[in-house]
Amino acid sequence: MIEPNSELVIDYELVRNNIQVIKKNLPKDSKFMGIIKSNAYGHDLEKSAQALDGFVDGYGVVRLEEALKIRDISSKPILAMQGVYSSDAYDSLKQHEIWTVIHSLTQLPLAKQYQDELIFWIKLNTGMNRLGIGLDEIDQFKSFFKEQNVLMTHLACADNPGDELNDVQFKNFNSAYKKISKKMNRSVLNSAGIFNFPNYSFDWVRSGIAIYGGIDFPELKTAMTFRSQIISIQSLNANERIGYGGRVKTEKKSKIAIVYCGYADGFPQTAIDGTSALVNGHLSNILGRVSMDLISIDVTDIPDCKIGDWCELWSPELSIIENTQKNNLISYELMTKMSQRVKRQYLNI
Ligand SMILES: *Cc1c(COP(=O)(O)O)cnc(C)c1O
Repeated sequence: MIEPNSELVIDYELVRNNIQVIKKNLPKDSKFMGIIKSNAYGHDLEKSAQALDGFVDGYGVVRLEEALKIRDISSKPILAMQGVYSSDAYDSLKQHEIWTVIHSLTQLPLAKQYQDELIFWIKLNTGMNRLGIGLDEIDQFKSFFKEQNVLMTHLACADNPGDELNDVQFKNFNSAYKKISKKMNRSVLNSAGIFNFPNYSFDWVRSGIAIYGGIDFPELKTAMTFRSQIISIQSLNANERIGYGGRVKTEKKSKIAIVYCGYADGFPQTAIDGTSALVNGHLSNILGRVSMDLISIDVTDIPDCKIGDWCELWSPELSIIENTQKNNLISYELMTKMSQRVKRQYLNI
């Protein structure tokens, strides 16, 4: 066995496949913005832009710094989705042809100085009450309502199509658009919205988590594999306790494999007994509390399991959703929290 390490294997072919799956749900005339904020949800900002450039119509990031890195790689539209706040930053947007968002009245004086030189996305607060200009403030943004700009909003409950807030937000958005009565591009949907409300695709959709396979949709695959090797196997009798706090007791004679990764790699410390793992293609369960550097899994029923075997905590074959649903977590957080010490491998850039 070589020196073990936890590994994150990112396969861009799977991300590209996911994009194709998502596009099948969209009208042909909607443009596809790939959201690559937060280091492409842990999938590497720059490599993602390289690997996906032929498959998206533009990119969404949060920070100017991210946008500038992408501009070195791609000539496609880039949107800095949370706006910028200084004239230096606006100058930089201008120089590198980067789009930005205005979402509040306080941004207005500075934004106005650049209104003829930049493309702006005007973000409405239609009910999420996080970012966005109030519906009663729309008149003050008149000069920004023009064909090349985009009227946008963000849904609070896109992943829960039955929630009444969705209807409220669509209604508010539509009536604001009517009131503006200028031809403008429009953008409402994130990943969950694309699957649940394809009728609201309009001119641009903004898809992040789905391209990485982090939402529950049959054809999407988790594009990152988080795995590490087994470094010890315990043979236990019935009624023996496992790990810190001894929180779980064996019911019968058991084999417990100890995997070389833990919460310091970014795996959730709160993972419950029964959280899935995959060893040699066989499904296994976490048993016992996750430690800083080790995880214990039940391999009693896995034939020929031995030291050095790889254990996948999530992968294309074991959706990250398995883990998040059991543990009341979200895939966004797990993907963005993988720690530095995890060794990265990138396939099919
Ligand atoms: C992050 C983000 C998205 C993408 O959301 P997903 O759920 O990852 O698809 C879209 N729009 C805005 C404004 C965002 O901040």
